Amino acid sequence: MSLLVVGSVALDCIETPVARKEDVLGGSAVCFSYAAGFFVPVQLVGVVGGDWPEEHTKMLESHGIDMSGLEIQKGGKTFRWSGKYLENMNDRVTLETQLNVLADFQPKLPEAFRRAQFVFLANGSTKTQLQVLEQSHGADLVVADTMNFWIESERDSLLGLLKKIDGLLLNDSEAKMLSGELNVLTAARKILELGPKFVIVKKGEHGAIFVSQYDIYVIPAFPTDNVVDPTGAGDSFAGGMMGYIASQGKADGETIKKAIVYGTIVASFQVEGFGIDRLRQLTRDDIEQRLEKFRKMVEF
Ligand code: AMP
Repeated sequence: MSLLVVGSVALDCIETPVARKEDVLGGSAVCFSYAAGFFVPVQLVGVVGGDWPEEHTKMLESHGIDMSGLEIQKGGKTFRWSGKYLENMNDRVTLETQLNVLADFQPKLPEAFRRAQFVFLANGSTKTQLQVLEQSHGADLVVADTMNFWIESERDSLLGLLKKIDGLLLNDSEAKMLSGELNVLTAARKILELGPKFVIVKKGEHGAIFVSQYDIYVIPAFPTDNVVDPTGAGDSFAGGMMGYIASQGKADGETIKKAIVYGTIVASFQVEGFGIDRLRQLTRDDIEQRLEKFRKMVEF
């Protein structure tokens, strides 16, 4: 049931049409872990600098996240990302990406992390994702996420990674960029030919589509009228999904289908606050209640 994640641990600067916040706790590994922590304990691998507030580590530990794989480089600065959302609160522009300590991060997995049954390679350098895979042995399921930044800068390593993973998560524009195809389904099928057994394309407020050689599932997003900050929606979707899979200890088609529903519900909470603020107010029960509402919405 062990779930390992490697990814960015960040201090974000987020601008929406109504507010601007600096030093928001973020990063793909943080949003993923917090979401997955509602289902199972999580092992986090990442790196931060001397500017990292120690209280973040304690808070994450109190949510069942094992932080012993977080390297602190005292002389460096934590990864920083700043982004601005447009009026529609769906499209965003990256204003700045400061890789800082993430630039030449060489992950070293603590011994206890090496045999994790479920592994998630959250958005981050493909080279780092590959280094984690080299140290991890016998995982039942390996799923990776990526984004345009890495598709452009590390395309060759990404093509190598695709041959070693079971599933790939990415958003629609990234799927098109990686495959060169304009239709989402054609893009997903082309990515399947590059290695993974399944691809999940996230379409923001329009939900997600799962594509494998045998199945296609589509799922709408849970509609919320309280979108405060969409940052980390994709990571928390992945966290809810992988957390549920790990809690079941298996990754058959039916389990993955239900896991995608959990991912959708957790992501709908994530967007209702800055960073992980909204998730921090939740209990597992809140997730179950929203899932029941969602079930009534999509049944036909
Ligand atoms: P999402 O909204 O799901 O795409 O996730 C946004 C999170 O990813 C933010 O908290 C950022 O700190 C982090 N992030 C942004 N750009 C990168 C990047 N190039 N590599 C890794 N993490 C990133």
